[in-house]
Amino acid sequence: MEKRKLAYEGKAKKLYETDDNTVFLVEYLDQATALNGLRKDAVSGKGKMNNQITAYIFEELTAKGIANHFLEKISKTEQLIRKVEMIPLEVVVRNVAAGSFTKRLAVAEGTTLPFPIIEFYYKEDALDDPFINDEHVRFLDIASEVELEKIKTLALAVNDALKELFLEINIRLIDFKIEVGRTAEGEILLADEISPDTCRLWDQTTNEHLDKDVYRREIGDLIPVYEEVLNRLKNKGAN
Ligand code: UDP
Repeated sequence: MEKRKLAYEGKAKKLYETDDNTVFLVEYLDQATALNGLRKDAVSGKGKMNNQITAYIFEELTAKGIANHFLEKISKTEQLIRKVEMIPLEVVVRNVAAGSFTKRLAVAEGTTLPFPIIEFYYKEDALDDPFINDEHVRFLDIASEVELEKIKTLALAVNDALKELFLEINIRLIDFKIEVGRTAEGEILLADEISPDTCRLWDQTTNEHLDKDVYRREIGDLIPVYEEVLNRLKNKGAN
């Protein structure tokens, strides 16, 4: 597969065209960001971690029957994905109260939620990715009612699959964010990345934070923590 011109540059990834017009090449960068990009730091080795962890998780999701855009990891920092039309939503699923949820609703961090809660954020930098509801999604023509139902069903299926996967490596899935795309055939497909950048992961025994909160809250080094998650995933079969 030939890497061609840069198609899109995000906060921590670059997307390149390839010689196959149905395939993008993603390069994960050594970049950490927080506060919607206001804080930005070069973190050596992070691209490699996120590429490997995301590839591993998408392969596991494929094995659990969840269709997604991932095709193949082709180098330490690069992977091939299926091109889809991205839907400008951040879909968050929460199992335990943390982050913005605790502030918005004054719920103590760590409170187990009685059922998984789905939230939508409109991916629009100029508006700071606002929290929106189903009717805003329809009003903004982001997705149809039928698509929105499919997105919710997919988000809950991903939650079940990820909860199970992480539990096997003694990690509690607190919450996570996914993004979805539309295929040329009009199907909704899981896309983007799933890594400690996009999930809150707490050690099941110690409640240690094994995710980007160590960077957001400046409570430790990010690389050893991401390495720990990757190693647990890699050794999963051996346990
Ligand atoms: N999240 C993300 N990208 C964002 C915002 C949130 O991946 O731009 C993830 C975050 O890592 C967490 C979940 O979505 O796992 C819920 O995040 P929250 O709304 O609590 O926001 P935060 O406290 O991270 O600002």
